[in-house]
This record gives sequence, C-alpha cells and structure tokens, in this order.
Amino acid sequence: MDVRRRPPMRSVRQSSTTSAGEPPVKHLKPSDALPLPLYLTNGIFFALFFSVAYFLLHRWREKIRTSTPLHVLTLSEIAAIVSMLASVIYLLGFFGVDFVQSLVTRPSGDVWDEDSRPGPCAAAIDCCPPPKVADVAPVTVFSSEEEEEMIRSVVAGSVPSYLLESKLGDCKRAAAIRREALQRTTGRSLAGLPLDGFDYEAILGQCCEMPVGYVQIPVGIAGPLLLDGREYWVPMATTEGCLVASTNRGCKAIFTCGGASSMVLRDRMTRAPVVRFPTASRAADLKLFVEDPINFDTLAVVFNRSSRFARLQGIHCAIAGKNLYMRFGCSTGDAMGMNMVSKGVQNVLDFLQTDFPDMDVIGISGNFCSDKKPAAVNWIEGRGKSVVCEAIIGDEVVRKVLKTSVAALVELNMLKNLTGSAVAGALGGFNAHASNIVSAVYIATGQDPAQNVESSHCITMMEAVNDGKDLHISVTMPSIEVGTVGGGTQLASQSACLNLLGVKGASKESPGSNSRLLATIVAGSVLAGELSLMSAIAAGQLVKSHLKYNRSSRDVSKIAS
Ligand code: ADP
Repeated sequence: MDVRRRPPMRSVRQSSTTSAGEPPVKHLKPSDALPLPLYLTNGIFFALFFSVAYFLLHRWREKIRTSTPLHVLTLSEIAAIVSMLASVIYLLGFFGVDFVQSLVTRPSGDVWDEDSRPGPCAAAIDCCPPPKVADVAPVTVFSSEEEEEMIRSVVAGSVPSYLLESKLGDCKRAAAIRREALQRTTGRSLAGLPLDGFDYEAILGQCCEMPVGYVQIPVGIAGPLLLDGREYWVPMATTEGCLVASTNRGCKAIFTCGGASSMVLRDRMTRAPVVRFPTASRAADLKLFVEDPINFDTLAVVFNRSSRFARLQGIHCAIAGKNLYMRFGCSTGDAMGMNMVSKGVQNVLDFLQTDFPDMDVIGISGNFCSDKKPAAVNWIEGRGKSVVCEAIIGDEVVRKVLKTSVAALVELNMLKNLTGSAVAGALGGFNAHASNIVSAVYIATGQDPAQNVESSHCITMMEAVNDGKDLHISVTMPSIEVGTVGGGTQLASQSACLNLLGVKGASKESPGSNSRLLATIVAGSVLAGELSLMSAIAAGQLVKSHLKYNRSSRDVSKIAS
C-alpha cells in the first residue's frame, strides 16, 4: 500500500485571527512612544523643519554671495543640518510609514478577487470575504501517544476504520482519528470539511457510518405558504441559486389569492419481496391464497405485530413465471416506514413458510416495491403519501406578481409539462421542477434524499377558469415518502426545521398526522415552485434571472428541465 506519511503531528493550533472574545489589537505607530501630545510634537517638528530649512537656504545664499566654499561649515550650520535630518526622519516616520504600509498590505487577488466576488444574490455577505481554505491538512491536537498510535494503526490497516467508535467509546474522537488517518493516507486535505460542532453520537448506528466530518448546506426560507388555512415557513436546504427566491415568489402569489388547499388521497408505504416456487402454478396458488379476503385478515394480524403503528392495507401480487412478487402496502404512523414495513413483511413470510414449504424467499425486496428507482408502479399505485394540491390564482396576481398571463401559462403547461413530457416518454415527470423543491425540503427536514426519485413524481395541471380570467393550478403527487420520526429526522438541524413547520416528532393526538401534514407541505411548496418557474419561462425571464443571480457560467436550462 502506498502510504504517504507526514511528519508526526504536534499540537500547534494556527490562530491567525482574533477570537470574538479577545480585545481588539491596537496598531502601534512610532509616535505613540512620544512624551508630548501628538499635535504638539508634530507642530514642533514642522516648525523645526521649516526654520532650519530657511536658515540653511539663507546661509547658502550668503556663501555664494561672499564666495565662501559650501563645505566649510560653522557650528550653527552643523546643528541646523542635524536638526533638519531629525525632523525629516520624524515626519517620514509619522506620515510616510502608514502610507507605505497601506500599499504593501492591500488585499491581494487570491484572498478577495474581484472576479470571484459574490453576485447580487449574495449581496448580504458581500461585506465579509469568504474564509480562505487551507491547502494543506490542518494540524489537529491529539493529546496522547495512544491516539497517535491509533492513527498509525488505521493508516497501516491493522485497525479497521469502522471499529474506531467501539474501540474508543467516543464517537467524536473516532471521527477525528479516522479523518486524520484519511488525510495521511491520501495526502489530501479535508480542511474545508468541518469536524467540530456536530453530535456524532446521534448518528451512530442509524444515520452514517465511518464519519469524518459533515457537509454544510445553506437553508433558505420560502413563505409564508398559506395552505389549508395555515401559514408555513418552508425550510429549503439547497445550493441552487434562485430556487428559494422562486419558490418564495410562488408562495406570495398563492398567499395573495387566498391560499392553496390539499388532500391526502392515500397513505401507504410498500415493500415487495420476491419468492420462487418449483412451478408457476405453485406461485399462482400463493397469489390466490394471499388475495382471499379471509386469508388477508389473518396475514394482516401477523403483519401488524411488527409495530404499534403498522397497519397492513393490501397485498398487490404480480407473477413472472415461477416467481411471485407481493407488494405489501401499509400505513406507518409518523415514520416514513421502510423499516416498519420490512419487519412486517418478514413476519408474514415466516408465517407463510408453514403452509408453503416449497416457497423459496429470494429477497425481502424484489423491486416491485419500488424504492428509489423510477417505476410505473409508484406513479400509478402510489407509495407513501399520495397528495393533490390546488390553488386559483387571480388574473391580476398572474400579471403583477408572476409577470405573465393566464393564457401564456396554460399554453406553456400543455406544451411543456404534458406534451413535451409525453414526447420525452416521461415517467411521472409531467412537471417543471418538482424534484428541486422536494430535494431541498427533504434535505432540510431529514428525509431520505434518495427517495426524491419517486417522491418527485408529479403532474402539474393548469386551466383557465372564471371565464378565462383566473388560473387553476394543481399538482398531483402519488408518492411522497416522508416521516417525522426515525432516520435523519431526529438530528438537531433537521429536527429544528421540522419544528419550524410544527411537525416535529410523533403526533400524540393522532399518529400519522404529522407525516401526512408534512407531505401536504411538500406538495404545497411544489405548487409554489411550479407556479413561479412556469411563469418565469412564460415571461422569458429565466435566463435573465439566472444571470442576475450570478449564474451566467452555468447551464440555466438545467433548472428548467
Ligand atoms: P422507518 O420505518 O421510517 O425507517 P424507523 O424504524 O427508524 O422508521 O422509526 C420508526 C420508529 O419510531 C419505530 O420504532 C416506531 O415504533 C417509533 N414511533 C414512535 N412514534 C411513532 C409514530 N407516531 N409513528 C410511527 N412510528 C413511531
């Protein structure tokens, strides 16, 4: 193994900046050492300079007139020359040094380069230059020889990195040691990836293995989103410029027109194991058995033992030769529910094995579920929460807030979101950018971002109503997979975002109502996002707004696809 070693680490913290609590550093000038007040000292040296200059010029003229050699000096002339030199040195030191320093210490291009200045989007942070990320790995404090030894063992491969947490019993130290070992192994710096300020105990065994730090994503706020009579401030974690601003504009248009309303049509998480039989007819036997209502009731009892919150709703079977795919669907309370439904499915498979001993369980997941992959079954049958959300946007708001017209929006929706997507052979992609909003809200609220694949299935409809004056807009999203307990939802930042929406944790009054409410907020936010982006395209503003937000170097068509 090619292991690049750096010199042994020493406890040297580089502290080039003054911490907030320290008194400000006073910049000393040579004149600060003077015994007299500054203005008096300056006055004396100015007077001295001009008087001796006058005296010497006068003497010089006298010598020329009397033909006395210039280098023959009297005592008074020597004293005058010395005084003049002294005053010149003082005056240069006082007025000259600051000027020279200001030239020398002017910010250099690599720290605050005009070309790399943030654009108007980042006007708020214009005043504080971004921190300069070190090119070399920072020197970290490792207090004991034991830790240094541990780093060396991880680098050498004699201690597996994944065992650090259990060996040390301290998740933060484990992450620090793993990180340092990684830097030494690769010779690459992780200086920009923060380590401090994160609760590594909170992710142990459930959110992330072998951590070496955490990535920071800014969270913007769109809102208020007026949905079903309540106002929500929607947190969006994104690095996509314009996205929050655009969603915010959509929220404003919806708010001005009295808000949006939503409905949860179905709440059903799915898992579909694949089982194999010696013959296709035996696979069909199990299909008929499972679909018999009496047997289903028995299976539901077995399934529901997995959790207080799991309630089996149905089993949708599909056969491929000797193989049977059983798509179990159940409600999962406030959890997104993948763990819960998988446990229930395992209970049922164990139960079925008695009556079908020739059943061979190939996998607890046979992809008919279908999790984190584009699949028509989710688009048609739904997965997680199926939600529809609508609003009527008045003609005046369309013109004044969205800067377009109802007719232009309806036409664009038909040609882009419906016809264009049909031409593209889209699967659930009959929208402008639902996944932008879904991903940003998912990351902010601790959802599984990989489920963005099916959660972003959405058909956006637009129609002129009220004699063609107003716009009816709706989004129908059959597979919003969200939870307010479990997974990343319990981490501090994500939990704070859920709290902002009023859906943190499990609902005590009615289990499942928090996660259903979150699903409607996701749909409402998508509605706002669709309204605003479609308006921008209809008005031909898209390229303009992206240029304004300093994205001229990027392909702006990406956000509109
Ligand atoms: P998931 O099934 O989404 O992967 P987890 O299994 O990580 O979620 O978390 C669900 C856990 O939370 C279960 O152990 C469940 O018993 C518990 N729980 C507590 N309150 C609720 C609730 N209101 N709804 C669903 N689960 C809840």
